[in-house]
Amino acid sequence: MIHVGIGYDVHPLVAGRPLILGGVQIPHNKGLDGHSDADVLMHAICDAVLGAIGEGDIGQFFPNTDPRWRGAPSKIFLEEAARQVGFHQAKIVNIDASLIAEQPKLMPHAQAMKMNIAHALGINPARVGIKATTNEHLGFIGRGEGIAAMAVASVDLHE
Ligand code: MG
Repeated sequence: MIHVGIGYDVHPLVAGRPLILGGVQIPHNKGLDGHSDADVLMHAICDAVLGAIGEGDIGQFFPNTDPRWRGAPSKIFLEEAARQVGFHQAKIVNIDASLIAEQPKLMPHAQAMKMNIAHALGINPARVGIKATTNEHLGFIGRGEGIAAMAVASVDLHE
C-alpha cells in the first residue's frame, strides 16, 4: 500500500547566519535562523516522511528545547526519519519538494540538494524532486523575511 505524507516548514532570514538548504551552503547575505541549522527543506521532507508512516513530526523526535540539537546538521533528522521507515518494514518510494524564496536563485543548487537528501534517506537521487519558486514579492516571503518549503513523501507500507 502506498501511503503519502505532507510536510511544511518556514524559518526567518536573518543576518549573520549561513544559508543552508538541502544540506548545501548557499552564498547569500542572510541565513535562516533556528535551533538547528534551520534547513527548511530537510525539515519539511522529514515531516512528510514521518507523516507517511504515522509517526508524528520532527519536533517529537528532536525537540527544539533540547541543547543536543543546537546547530545540528539537519541530515541527522532525515537519517532518523529513514530509520523509522525501516522499523515499519517500509520503503520510501519518492519525495517531492518545493522551496519558496524570493532570493537567492536556488535551482542552480537543486542537484546538490538532491544528492544530500537522497544520501541521508538512503534512496536513489532520481526519487527526489526539488523545485524552487518565488512568492511574486507577496507577503513575508516576498519581502525576503523568510524561506518556506513544502514536501510530500510516498512510502510503500505493508500494513
Ligand atoms: Mg524547522
